[in-house]
This record gives sequence, C-alpha cells and structure tokens, in this order.
Amino acid sequence: MNDELTINSILDHPRRDDHRKVKIVATVGPASRSADVIRRLIEAGANVFRLNFSHGTHDQHLEVLNTVRQVARELNTYVAVLQDLSGPKIRITRVDTSSDLLEDNHTVILKHSDGSISSASVIQVETIDPMKVLNPGSSVLLADGAFVLEAVGPQGDGYECRIKKGGTLRSNIGIAFPDSQCELPATTEKDLKDLAWGIEHAVDYVALSFVSNAKDILTVKDFIRVKSGVAKIIAKIERKSALRNIEEIFDVSDGIMVARGDLGVELELEKLPMIQKLLVEKANYRGLPVIVATQMLQSMVTNVRPTRAEVADVSLAVLNGADAIMLSEETAIGQFPVEAVRYLHKIGLEAERRFQFEEYRWRLQNSDTETVPDALTYAACGAAIKVKAAAIIACTETGNSARLTAKYRPLQPLYGASTREESLRRMCLYWGVIPIYSAPTATHTDELRVALREVQMRENLPNGSKAVITGGVSVRTPGATSILEIREMNYR
Ligand code: PEP
Repeated sequence: MNDELTINSILDHPRRDDHRKVKIVATVGPASRSADVIRRLIEAGANVFRLNFSHGTHDQHLEVLNTVRQVARELNTYVAVLQDLSGPKIRITRVDTSSDLLEDNHTVILKHSDGSISSASVIQVETIDPMKVLNPGSSVLLADGAFVLEAVGPQGDGYECRIKKGGTLRSNIGIAFPDSQCELPATTEKDLKDLAWGIEHAVDYVALSFVSNAKDILTVKDFIRVKSGVAKIIAKIERKSALRNIEEIFDVSDGIMVARGDLGVELELEKLPMIQKLLVEKANYRGLPVIVATQMLQSMVTNVRPTRAEVADVSLAVLNGADAIMLSEETAIGQFPVEAVRYLHKIGLEAERRFQFEEYRWRLQNSDTETVPDALTYAACGAAIKVKAAAIIACTETGNSARLTAKYRPLQPLYGASTREESLRRMCLYWGVIPIYSAPTATHTDELRVALREVQMRENLPNGSKAVITGGVSVRTPGATSILEIREMNYR
C-alpha cells in the first residue's frame, strides 16, 4: 500500500471510512454530555469516552456513563469508558466569575485554600501552601502553562505574584510550581472514593494521574482486585520521576498515556516531542496501548477548523504508532466537539496511508515477550501477507490475542471476536481492532463459521477470500493464544 503512495493517489483515492486504525478518545464534559452529542461523537469516530474525575460529581458521571452505554447499544457498536482519576494534582478552587480576569503585569495573592472561591485578586490553592514552596523569582504556571506568574514575596498569609501572562481564570484548573519540590501522595482519599465508584460501575479503564513508580500502580491494582473489579490501568506519564522509572511502570501497567499537558509543565517543552516518540516506541515494543493526549486540536475549542500545526502534530502521533489520540477541552467544553472528532478521524485516515506497516512487524519481531501467544500473533500477521488474506480475526476471551496481533500493526482489517462484552469494550482502545460479538457456540468450528460470515459481510468480500484466524481454542483458556489457521470465506 505504501509503495503505491503518490501525490495523485492521495488526491484522488479516499480511504475507506471504516478502516481507520488509530483510535479516538473523547473527553466528556458540559459540551458533550447529552445523548445527542454522544451519538454524533460515536458516529464521527469516537471509540473511547473519558470521564475526567477532576471535574463533576458522581451523579453527573453516572448519567454520562449510562448515556454512553445506552447510545452505543442503540447504534449497535462498542465503545470503552475510561475513568481518569484526578490524582494529587494541585488545583485552584472554584472561581468567582465576576472577577476572573488575570491582567498582565498586575499582581495576585496565592493562598493555601480555606475552601473559599478564587478570584483575580486572591487565588486559593488546594493541597499545598504556596508560602511553603515559593521563593522570590519562582515560576508559577496555571492551566498547563497557559498563564504564567512570577513569585514576588510573602504578603500577609499569602504570597504575592506578578502576572507575566494572564487570561481568564477557570474553576479547578491546575497550578504548578516547576521551580519547587512539592511532596505529594500518589493516590488521594478522593481518588480511592472515585475508584470505588468506577469499580461499582464497571468502567473499562482507569487512568492514574501523576504516578511516579510501579508501587503507585500496584496499590491501585490491589484495591481493584480486592473489590473484584475488571478495569485495566492506564498510567499517565506526566512526571519526570515517571520517566526515570518508566520500565517498572510498563511492567505493571496495562497501557500508558503521554499526558503532554502536565508533562509539558514538568519538562522543557522542546524535549516533549522526542520523549513522546520514545514512550510510544516503548509501548509498541511491549504491545501495550499508548494514548497521546492534550492539545491535539486545541484551537478547535473556539474554531471550526484546526491549525496546520495541530494537524501535523496529530499526523506525527499516528505515524509514531500511537494506539489512540485524545481530545480533552475540545470535546469537553469546546464549541465544536463533533467537528473535532471528525478531524481526528480524517487526519488519522490520511496519516495511515504512510504508516510503515512492514517496518513495524520487523522492528517488533524480537520484542520482549518471547511467548507462544506473541509468536503466533506475529506469525498470523506474516501469514496474512503470504496468502493475501482479506482480514485477520482474533478469537479472544480477554482481548489479549487481539492486542498482541495489533502489536504487529497488520495492514489487513483486524477483528477481535469475543463472547464477553467487557472484552469487546476493552478492545476499543487497541490499535486497529474492530470488536465483534461472537455468541457462545458448542464448538470451535461453529464459532469460526459465525465470525467468518460476519467479517465477509462487513468487508463485502467475494467468496473464496481468505482470513487468518488466531486466538484461543474453543474451550478458550482466557488470555491464551494457541491457534493459527487460514480459512476461506464462502458465505455469500
Ligand atoms: C495531561 O496532563 O495531559 C492530562 C491528560 O491530564 P489532565 O488533563 O488530567 O490534567
């Protein structure tokens, strides 16, 4: 496919709409929580909905969760829900909207929150006392660096700061002290209460903010296990300490998010693209899903079209090999949530014309899991090329066979067939995987027949087309990939 890539082919041949490989995560917020918008987001291409627990009440999140599941059922499709725990992020309190404009070169007092609301004259800081971490000249960044303050000196029970770059304050935005060492717990009381909610309502993924090491993740995994939860853990990489401990974090996580908002505050911005590239490569190498997040189409919060630079940034993440790309404010509070998802969909499709499918398979062939499932899924992708298969089908109880097959980035449509709803939803995050329900059947042959017919119909394939099958055998020991077969589809 890449061989045929010419300027004329780009101009004249649209890619099939349902063949986008990279997945889209959309954050739900006031701009997108109605059933109508959620429906249009799914139709535009959203695969995963992110519930941001830095904002909103449990009742509001429950309403969204129920709406997402109801709309997905009505559309006869699958989407996953990702619960993003706020973690020990330092935030300001709610904002008085009658006094919310931080004006350049004015001053503002930062105070340790007593629970009262923030304004453009006094900003109340939760979790830590600014008096204890600031020195004259220290930087203070708000909203992932959108607003910049410089510490002047103590002023009564607060710390006076000069506004170097102001703007309109919003409730509960993050505040960072990049020049100061802030000792913070890994998981807060609030996170554990929110997590208990997530387990009760069977969210598919839980994203952990501000992790530093494997222990931070294992604590949460234990909590989920004790409560018999099913959620998989996505470690948000947004601290320097997490970068230093990245291998042990990968060892215990089910996926990662390159959380560029906070990471871009912790690191010099110019280091971010290369760190992103390396994190994506490491995740690919392990066959773990990686989400690239934050400010992907930021200008679309207020504009109906993205900037050229944003389009290039998204394309690069897709070409790097991200499993998923994420929208935050664009869909949560933006004016054009559906258009933003449509753009990600279109940019993803176009970038994938140039995706190095062949190179991926070779590059990852010696990756770190020298196991039977890994060998079989690798072989399945090779076999699909040899026999010119029209599709690959991973028969999978847990979603693992599909995830491992996706690791080798096959060009052919990749189906993940499962009897379990939770696995079908989980696969919505995996690169290229199209989840299809497979009703429990008596034998492996029956099961295959149902999956093959479904794929032949969906892909509109002539009789005689071939599919490569991988996955578990009929008894289906969950998670164990043990078969590789090549079958013809003759069901028309
Ligand atoms: C980020 O920092 O990029 C991120 C995704 O985290 P949050 O939006 O929760 O701050």
